[in-house]
Amino acid sequence: MNPSPTSASQTAAAVRSKARSALSVVEEHLAVIGQSEEEICAFNIVTADKARSRAAQIDAQIAQGHNPGPLAGVPVAIKDNLCTKGIPTTCSSRILEGWEPPYDATAVELLCGAGAVIIGKTNMDEFAMGSSTENSAFRPTRNPQDTSKVPGGSSGGSAAAVAAGFAPIALGTDTGGSIRQPAALCGVVGVKPTYGRVSRYGLIAFASSLDQIGPFANTVADAALVTDVIAQFDSRDSTSISQPVADVLPTLDHGVAGVRIGVIKELGGKGIAPDVAARCDQAIGALESAGAKVGQASVPSAGYGLSAYYLIAPAEASSNLARFDGVRYGLRVDAKSTPEMNIATRSAGFGEEVKRRIMLGTYALSSGYYDAYYAKAQKVRTLIIADFAKAWEDFDLLLSPTSPTTAFSLGERTADPMAMYMSDVCTVPVNLTGQAAMSVPYGCGQDGLPVGVQILAPALGEPLMFRAAAVLEASLG
Ligand code: GLN
Repeated sequence: MNPSPTSASQTAAAVRSKARSALSVVEEHLAVIGQSEEEICAFNIVTADKARSRAAQIDAQIAQGHNPGPLAGVPVAIKDNLCTKGIPTTCSSRILEGWEPPYDATAVELLCGAGAVIIGKTNMDEFAMGSSTENSAFRPTRNPQDTSKVPGGSSGGSAAAVAAGFAPIALGTDTGGSIRQPAALCGVVGVKPTYGRVSRYGLIAFASSLDQIGPFANTVADAALVTDVIAQFDSRDSTSISQPVADVLPTLDHGVAGVRIGVIKELGGKGIAPDVAARCDQAIGALESAGAKVGQASVPSAGYGLSAYYLIAPAEASSNLARFDGVRYGLRVDAKSTPEMNIATRSAGFGEEVKRRIMLGTYALSSGYYDAYYAKAQKVRTLIIADFAKAWEDFDLLLSPTSPTTAFSLGERTADPMAMYMSDVCTVPVNLTGQAAMSVPYGCGQDGLPVGVQILAPALGEPLMFRAAAVLEASLG
């Protein structure tokens, strides 16, 4: 599928050694975008001219003997909820249309500081609420593996951009699975780092206690490289982790001999499609052959993750989205008084799913219902954290499918929010606990569409998690 055979690190090496110019790399990717973006719709905006001038700048730096960094000349696609200075940032919402952030998100700044070239901003479910990218206010994105299927969501544009060869690297955000699920459905690697490892500064908040930024890539090594670049302490995010943490790349090929891996009982079985389950079993076999000690793990409360998530995330969203009032950003629909203007703007600017979440969240937080819903959900969250802590006494890593099914058809789940929410059953527990997790492509289902296996690690366990991912990748040959 991917017409560009070289990895991001190979491309950067070629650019640094002047075997290739950064400009030619950008032109090559713009040509691929020109061929199939009209059908895929991965981007809200392709920043072709900005990318060309930035690439020329990198070539000039190299000509002068400077090293632009580990991502020299590598095109990157950025999810459209990450602030990019002077480039429109919409969250795929009408309410932000036309708004240009005055600053870059820290993760974007770090990527550019490592030599990357922004090639465009990617489509997403509006405000990252959804699992198919069909909630974009603009248009849905299509899965490059089969364009009658969704790419997953909410970072569907980023996953599709990497799968289609539009960019070897993309950034997404994951509040309940929005990196891992689209990665699985599009057949690419997707990583949700430990909460606090990547600064959320400049990420337009959905649910602040769950949101985390992470990479998409075609290979585990590229995902590791990007993780090491963006996972840095940042004083501008009060939840950023300040303790020194090990890089992932140096130990990537250390294998899993003797590593204890638990298969989560509660995230398997009934709700998982048989072809997805069969691929996970194969992955388990591959890890065992590589010397891992695999057993069954139990996280009894994991099954309640979805219920807790769909109270906590909307509650936080209802508060975070209060800032879109027609005064400070984007859209304004004029009316006689300020309160009427606020209402008219929000009514016109937010889509159906966003309004549904704001109402759910406001209800869960309202007096009289707070204890029954929001407070109860927080207790469930604590229970899930405690259950995982127990599992970590016996296991170094945990394993589950990423998504219960392969990619579904466009329109298949739009009429039934509950069916859509069920896509997240395996991914949300990790957002509630703050742990790290990633999805690695592991073959295809019966329909020939990609299956993703999810590897979970305790907080700051990224190095070991990536080692297992590398073993799985290598076992496929
Ligand atoms: N699909 C989930 C939701 O709709 C998760 C979204 C996300 O991770 N941003 O909320």
